[in-house]
Amino acid sequence: MLTRSELPENPVVLAVQDGDGRQHRIHTERVRGGKIRMTCSCDSNRAAGWCDHQVQLLCLRYDIVVERSEDMEFHFEDVVMGTPLADLADDVDVALGDYQKALDAIGLKRLAGLDSAKLHRVAEMASDLAEAANHLESALERFRKRLAAGLV
Ligand SMILES: [Zn+2]
Repeated sequence: MLTRSELPENPVVLAVQDGDGRQHRIHTERVRGGKIRMTCSCDSNRAAGWCDHQVQLLCLRYDIVVERSEDMEFHFEDVVMGTPLADLADDVDVALGDYQKALDAIGLKRLAGLDSAKLHRVAEMASDLAEAANHLESALERFRKRLAAGLV
């Protein structure tokens, strides 16, 4: 992880675009103590204190970026790689995936019978979903707190 003074380009400002064409600006800056100040102009970020744009970028997925360039990706990675915020974004990403899988597992099943084995399976899936939801909630809480720490 480069120190703040070693970063050639800090902050990095990126434009991202949603599926419906709306664009937002993400401002990412390394501040003191290895913290990241990362803001996004989208409504979701304003309401919840984090957004999926941030998670996507911190997981080094650039599909949503408008006018991608290798230079931009290089500078962004210099700023975020190896930071606690990037690690937490990976946790959120995994937790989101597990949560979606648990939701899908329940959504795909129909009530095909009331025998003991089926009811047991439903209980297991419900338990998996509860666990995934709890894990996602705590991962998001840590991510939000870390984002907020960069803003002070
Ligand atoms: Zn956003």
